[in-house]
This record gives sequence, structure tokens and C-alpha cells, in this order.
Amino acid sequence: MADPSIFTRIRSGEIPGEILLDTGRVFAIRDINPQAPLHVLVIPVAEQYRNVTELAAGNPALLAEMVAVAQQIADEHAGGEYRLIFNTGPRAAQSVFHVHAHVLGNIEENRLVG
Ligand code: 5GP
Repeated sequence: MADPSIFTRIRSGEIPGEILLDTGRVFAIRDINPQAPLHVLVIPVAEQYRNVTELAAGNPALLAEMVAVAQQIADEHAGGEYRLIFNTGPRAAQSVFHVHAHVLGNIEENRLVG
């Protein structure tokens, strides 16, 4: 078996991190290097999906649950509005190959990144 991802290690408490929400299937942590006033990662507990394309094909209900969790995070921390980003592949700056959504909120400038 592959080693657990950095996100799984945060969820298990092996590595410190701020867990905002955990449904048992999806969890949310604050990004260590925030690119917006609110920057949260929404992650399925299941590690087998490396990116959103694999997740959408393999378990669309889990992808929908990630979007619902993103909305819940935005409701609690950003007035209900948010930007959702899935980096897919190294040439799109993906660095962790355990699918995750970046939830950005409270954005003051209309920049595409950050
Ligand atoms: P990616 O580049 O794969 O789309 O996103 C990975 C994200 O994970 C980055 O935004 C990075 O800041 C975040 N990250 C990497 N290591 C850690 C960590 O140890 N703790 C937390 N909270 N976030 C991390």
C-alpha cells in the first residue's frame, strides 16, 4: 500500500493541522499557505482518487458531497460565496495526488489565482 497522503496524516493527527469539519467521508482543513483570506482544502477521506477527473468518473456522489462541504465552509466563513479550484496534474501546479478542492473566499481583488 502507498504511504498515507499528507492530508490523511493531518486527519489522523500525525501531523498538526486545523480541521474545520469532518463528515466521515469528507473533511476540510485550512491551507498552510493561504492564497486568499479564506483558503480551505476540502478532501475526501478515500485516497484512491488522484484528481477530480478520476473522482468524477469513479464516485460522482462523493464529488457532490465535496461541493456541499465547500458551500458549508463558505456559509460559515465567507458569507456563502466561494471560488472552487481543482489543480489537476503537475503542469497545473498539483502537488498532492490525493484529490482536494481549494475553497477560496473573502476575495477582494478579481485575480484568477490567489
Ligand atoms: P495542490 O498544489 O496539490 O493543488 O495543493 C496542495 C495544497 O496543500 C497547497 O495549497 C499547500 O499549501 C497545501 N499543503 C501542503 N502541505 C500542507 C500541510 O502540511 N498542511 C496544510 N494545512 N496544507 C498543506
